[in-house]
Amino acid sequence: MANALAPEAHYNFFSSVERSFDKAAQFTKWEKGILEQIKACNSVYRMRFPVRVGSSIEVIEAYRVQHSHHKLPCKGGIRFSEEVNQDEVMALAALMTYKCAIVNVPFGGAKGGIKINPRNYTPFQLEAITRRYTAELVKKNFIGPGIDVPAPDYGTGEREMSWILDTYMSLRPGEVDGLGCVTGKPIAQGGVRGRKEATGLGVFYGLRELCNVKEDMEKLGLEPGLDGKRVVIQGLGNVGYHAAKYFYEAGSKITCLIEFDGAIYSEKGMNPDEVLKHRQETGSILNFPGSKNLTINMEGLEVDCDILIPAALENVIDADNAPRIKAKIIGEAANGPITPEADEILAKKGVIVVPDMFLNAGGVTVSYFEWLKNLSHVRYGRLGKRFDENMNIHILQVIEDLTGKKVSAQERKFIAHGADEVDLVYSGLEETMYTALHEVREAYMKNPKINDMRTAAYVAAIDKVGASYEQLGIFP
Ligand code: NAD
Repeated sequence: MANALAPEAHYNFFSSVERSFDKAAQFTKWEKGILEQIKACNSVYRMRFPVRVGSSIEVIEAYRVQHSHHKLPCKGGIRFSEEVNQDEVMALAALMTYKCAIVNVPFGGAKGGIKINPRNYTPFQLEAITRRYTAELVKKNFIGPGIDVPAPDYGTGEREMSWILDTYMSLRPGEVDGLGCVTGKPIAQGGVRGRKEATGLGVFYGLRELCNVKEDMEKLGLEPGLDGKRVVIQGLGNVGYHAAKYFYEAGSKITCLIEFDGAIYSEKGMNPDEVLKHRQETGSILNFPGSKNLTINMEGLEVDCDILIPAALENVIDADNAPRIKAKIIGEAANGPITPEADEILAKKGVIVVPDMFLNAGGVTVSYFEWLKNLSHVRYGRLGKRFDENMNIHILQVIEDLTGKKVSAQERKFIAHGADEVDLVYSGLEETMYTALHEVREAYMKNPKINDMRTAAYVAAIDKVGASYEQLGIFP
């Protein structure tokens, strides 16, 4: 176990995670030793390996951190970025431990990083780097379906996950559960349907559930439900677009969309699919028919609305603009969009901030479903779908015979439908976000000294990780 901070770690991200942990830990029942163990980073693997780039050899710096082994395997993305350093990877691994605990995904937290700018390399060179990194992980037993399961993060995607899988399988031939060594794979290589939209859909499910809590809505002066709620979204990328789409379909009004080159506003609301089409045709969301341009994009965050969803960058709400924010609910779809100073200002204003650690956990939740699919070696729905459909048609037939009435062809299709993979993934995600929201809320309500949902989320996470250490005992 190596656990010293890298000399180049300039910004102390890990310490700031520890501070948030300490703030919440005082509201839990765990003794000092258990809290210290939950907080500590268990294993840090810092590696340097040579890769041929063009005519020369480059030494690549990379990391894999396993923050917690309270549940196995560990789980967390791999990022390719020039900013990667040991402190950042440790902090992100710790956040994965708490995120998994909050959404009851039975993994320890981990994170990996390769310190490169992927834009400076050809696909062939990126493949060489990814494969060598995977081989290093295999050598030190830092990857495997029961050990540590990477996933995509900044600068990586399905392509890199395929390379990781292929390298792992060649080094561990015959391993029957080998497909579960990495998630975020293409469907053809053991990926799961529904992963692309998972984070945005999880954001939607989490906020919808909050809006269904009558007493919370009363405190904010809002009606329960999503119908007619005014929603502002920053970032129309993967997470922001999908969140916007589901809110729109649920009857909310998408009144403002914010992108890097400006924002658009419409009191009547906008259809995100039409905005996306407009962007594809013109290169920008600006000048969308029926909307007004806001040339300073950050002004969009301050528009009067019910729900504000930052889904682009970190630190966009700080001590400067927090006093001007008019949203009643802020759903952190992005990681870290609110600074700690802004958090305090918003808490005093009575804004409900739904924290990133819970709200954007849809991705890891569906990764968990992918891993389960890989271990079970069968597509979700394959065994039950036809049986359910035949049974539903039979029941419907009996009801029609008894009543002498017939349902429409459309209703028949809907009632008969048996669950397919994507239906089950959505259903599992909905259940996950629903349960976790209420667990975090319960921690929030239980102690009047907890004045924000972020601290409540940490409390919920610490309680679950603490309980598993208590059950495991301390070895030997
Ligand atoms: P993405 O790259 O698909 O989308 C980001 C969008 O933000 C882009 O449309 C981009 O143009 C826009 N943007 C960039 N700068 C902006 C600015 N200054 N103002 C407004 N918009 C700007 O990324 P994504 O996958 O949607 O991720 C968004 C956030 O959600 C990130 O913080 C990410 O860490 C977090 N997140 C993503 C996932 C996931 O599954 N994709 C999971 C958890 C958390």
